[in-house]
Amino acid sequence: MEQIYIGMGSNLAAPEEQLRSAIEALAQLPDSQLRGVSAFYQSDSLLPGQPRYTNAVAALASSLQPLALLDALQAIENQQGRERNERWGPRTLDLDILLFGDRLIDEPRLKVPHYHMQARPFVLYPLAELAPADLQLADGRSLQELLAACPFVGLERLA
Ligand code: ATP
Ligand code: MG
Ligand code: MG
Repeated sequence: MEQIYIGMGSNLAAPEEQLRSAIEALAQLPDSQLRGVSAFYQSDSLLPGQPRYTNAVAALASSLQPLALLDALQAIENQQGRERNERWGPRTLDLDILLFGDRLIDEPRLKVPHYHMQARPFVLYPLAELAPADLQLADGRSLQELLAACPFVGLERLA
């Protein structure tokens, strides 16, 4: 089993319910165990003019291979009505693989660690709730240094 962190986001069609459904779906994945879910957060959209996002991070232990997990996550997104229009457009559900054990993955369909996580407070702060404080990424960066360089801005932790 490898330790995997998944970033979740939604800004359409009852975002909190979308995340709750996604969490149930993650708990049903084959060869996997859901190990934890962060608090929910609200964040400003990366692009102006969209509703705010609800975000969370899930911790999964799994023996699925990375591309099989990506397929499964995309199936969950599709099941929840994800439509792919413009890049970073509003969406019912986004499930991104942030970290996959200590693997560095650079394939056309899958880059891990997630290429933009260092710039996203809505990823780093929920991740920090679940991950060990001394977490090192496969590329040598530490979670603590990423947090130190990413202010808690545009983000609100929900009760
Ligand atoms: P961003 O990647 O900036 O968060 P996004 O999540 O909206 O944007 P998507 O439309 O969900 O982007 O995904 C586009 C493609 O990114 C997917 O088809 C997938 O193959 C690829 N991809 C690459 N690395 C990852 C990853 N770590 N997790 C999920 N998808 C990834
Ligand atoms: Mg994304
Ligand atoms: Mg995505």
